[in-house]
This record gives sequence, structure tokens and C-alpha cells, in this order.
Amino acid sequence: MKGTVLGIEGTAWNLSAAIVNENDVVAEVTDTYSPATGGIHPREAAQHHAKYASTVIRKVLEEAKEKGVTSSDIDAIAFSQGPGLGACLRTVATAARMLAIKFNVPLVGVNHCLAHIEVGRWKTPARDPVTLYVSGANSQVLAYRMGRYRVFGETLDIGLGNAFDKFARNAGLSHPGGPKIEQLAKMSTNYIPLPYVVKGMDLSFSGLSTAATEALKCNSLEDVCYSLQETAFAMIVEVTERAIAHTGKREVLLAGGVGANMRLREMLDIMCTDRGVSFHVPEKRFMGDNGAMIAYLGLLMYNAGDILTIENSHVNPNFRPDDVDVTWLE
Ligand code: AMP
Ligand code: MG
Repeated sequence: MKGTVLGIEGTAWNLSAAIVNENDVVAEVTDTYSPATGGIHPREAAQHHAKYASTVIRKVLEEAKEKGVTSSDIDAIAFSQGPGLGACLRTVATAARMLAIKFNVPLVGVNHCLAHIEVGRWKTPARDPVTLYVSGANSQVLAYRMGRYRVFGETLDIGLGNAFDKFARNAGLSHPGGPKIEQLAKMSTNYIPLPYVVKGMDLSFSGLSTAATEALKCNSLEDVCYSLQETAFAMIVEVTERAIAHTGKREVLLAGGVGANMRLREMLDIMCTDRGVSFHVPEKRFMGDNGAMIAYLGLLMYNAGDILTIENSHVNPNFRPDDVDVTWLE
């Protein structure tokens, strides 16, 4: 594999551009949208991305230049084609098309979920893992089999991060709620029963978030945060464990912003140790949404000749990872 790719991530709250080559991340610049109140407002997030795209791209090109990589070294422009918020995706795709025309290089449309997996395979020893991808909007258990990353289990409603954030807002905590819930949960060991919803290999978090909000009426915030985490994490660890049993794979990779949570890591680690499989967690900067992962999968796809014409570069807010033919693996 060879080449240099500039990638732009912008599916939701994080606008991030990175330049990556076969050796490492050369440069990365990020500008995060943070709502003054409430959660992510799609139009405001897109306006944020439109406002800062040129600055972020200029800065990443400058940073790369300081390391001896110039714009003439760039072989392709990659962008997050989906899944994500439509308005945000369109803004970032427009910037990517403009750069592809300006530098006269091909465009690569990257599936955001697969970028999380591939950056994890790049930056940890995991080779063929079962991946637990838990972020704001997405919660999926995936593994590679016969040309595609198959979804073995997923949420039937909202992502786990959004379930945490929604509960946190109802509890008067600011966005994003996940890290605040983690801190409060450390102050309790009193478990309050909450709905545990695993249906086959699929999950549901919406009712759990609502039930946790209800539970605040007669329990302390710390007890509810603790119980919410224990319930939700037990659900996703159960599905991950069953995916290992079904696939026979020997590695687990954690991806997505919720993966920052130390209690989740501890529970996964216990399960993996019990099963004798290895557990892999990338550095935090590669766990939440980042431009490097888009640039890196863009580089893999570019090397496989998996590029787009401008005419075919429309975004897909519901882009499923199992819709992608994996062209970049042997
Ligand atoms: P992402 O969409 O992958 O960028 O991840 C963002 C989501 O991760 C948000 O919903 C956050 O609340 C959640 N999150 C971040 N840190 C933590 C944490 N320590 N514990 C639980 N959730 C977290
Ligand atoms: Mg993500």
C-alpha cells in the first residue's frame, strides 16, 4: 500500500480533516460543534461545518507542509459518505468535491462505521476482530466474513451514546452526557433494576433511557447512572460475546466514543479473559469520530482502485456498513 490521502470526517458533531500516508497520520485538525443548550441540532452542526471547513482544511495542509508533505503529494480526497446527519454529510461532501477538482485527484467515499474498524486494525494488533462499535448514533457488533463486514447485532432504535445523552439532558446534565454519567456512576454500587432489552442479537436503548429518567423520581442520580451503565453495558457485552461464539474469532476490538468508558472496558476485558480471546482498544484520539480514520480507509480504498466520480459522490445518511463490498482486503 502506498500514497497520501486527505480525509474529512463530518457525520455529526465533529469536523475533522487529516492527511495520512502508509506510515502514519501526517497531520490532523479538528473543530468540534458544541451546542449551547440541548443536544446536536442537525442544521446548526452543518452550519458549523460550513463555517469552519476552509479553516480546518487550510490548517491541515499547513501542518502537513511543516512535516514535508505538500498538497502536490496528495493522491486522493476521502470523505465520510454516511451514515450521519444529511445536512452535515452534504456540507463535507461539497468541500471534498471542491478539493478533488482543485488538486485534480480522485474522490473516495468512505463508510464511517468501517473507518472506525479499519483505523482500529491499523492502530492496534487486532487483525480479524469482532468489533463493538458504540457511538452517539450507532451501536453495532460487526465482523468480517466473505467480502463484507457483517452486522451480527445492532440497536433497533437509538445508539447507546444518544441514550446516555438523552437521559443526561433529562437529568439536567450538559451535552455530551456520557462522560458525566461515568463519573456519577463511580459514586454508587446500588443497582436499581432497569429494562434489559436484548432481542436475539439486537438491542434497544430507547426504553432504557426513558426508564432511567423515570427512576430519577425516587432514586439518587448516582444510583441511576450506575444502574444505567451496568444494564446497557451488560447488554452489549452479551451480544459481543455471542458474536465471538458464532464466528469463532479470537479478538475483540472496541470502537466509537462510548468506548472511552472505563467500566465498559473493564466488563469487556473480563468477558474476553473468560473466553481466552484478546481485547483491543485504540488510543482515544482514534476512538471517537476523527479525520484520520476517514483518510486511512480512503487510502486503503484508493489503493484498491475503489474511487468515485463526482457524479456518483452523493451522500447516504443511512449508509450501512454491510452494504459495502470490501475491496481492500485480500
Ligand atoms: P462518537 O459519536 O463516536 O463521536 O461518540 C460520542 C458519544 O460518546 C456521545 O454520545 C458521548 O456521550 C459518548 N461518550 C463519550 N465519552 C463517554 C464515556 N466516558 N462514557 C460513556 N459515553 C461516552
Ligand atoms: Mg462514529
